[in-house]
Amino acid sequence: MIINISKIQHFSVGDGDGIRTTVFFKGCNLRCPWCHNPENLTSSPCSMACPGKPGKEILGKYVFPGEILSELLEDKDFYEASGGGITFSGGEVMLQADGAAELGRLLKNEGVSVTIDTAGSIPYTEFEKLNTFVDEYLYDIKTADSEKYRSIGGNLSLVTDNLSRLIRDSKSVRVRIPLIPGFNTDIPSINSVGKLLSSLKITDADLIPFHRLGSSKYEALGLEYRYRDTEPLSSDELGIIEKEYSKYMKIKVEK
Ligand code: SF4
Repeated sequence: MIINISKIQHFSVGDGDGIRTTVFFKGCNLRCPWCHNPENLTSSPCSMACPGKPGKEILGKYVFPGEILSELLEDKDFYEASGGGITFSGGEVMLQADGAAELGRLLKNEGVSVTIDTAGSIPYTEFEKLNTFVDEYLYDIKTADSEKYRSIGGNLSLVTDNLSRLIRDSKSVRVRIPLIPGFNTDIPSINSVGKLLSSLKITDADLIPFHRLGSSKYEALGLEYRYRDTEPLSSDELGIIEKEYSKYMKIKVEK
């Protein structure tokens, strides 16, 4: 089963515990206008201008999972020493569940821990293909408002049903909430997400503050970036949001 990836990033941080290598899968069924990996939105390869270099870089290649296994195992000693492993990110990994499951199986055979970063708006049958090979899901909850989910191409009831089923199937799930100014950082939005997650018995969540690090990629891809002029949250604003969420669960703010 072939997979379509854009990049393998060694020594990545923020994609799970310990020292990790992240495999970025291409293609996403959502269209979050703040996305900081716009090169992974389309499933087909795309070309991107690289600052300081002539021509354009082609992003996206089709590989068999076995072809990238040795590269992913290069840092195995670091994974073992740090409690790290491999993270599949994207894009939406679950759109390529069959290929991701094959790569997960190869990694598990080597004793390497596998984490999947997902937005969860995909039928549960795709999760079932992967559950055996996944140690942890990093699971995005973007809003508790079904209309807002629809506006970015997602389906709130599917996302929450899948989260419930993963918990029921005893999978380790770490909920992550991106903090997007103007989308989900007002107090009513925070309270509705807090109540939703409490009703699903979620006791911990990570807050992921908005940043503009993907801005130059939009330019290089010739895409409009609607958050170009949006300021990151101040530490005071972050403090208020953290305090509000802390009424519902234990919160960690990603730096
Ligand atoms: S779900 Fe993730 S990868 Fe997909 S558009 Fe949203 S932020 Fe980007």
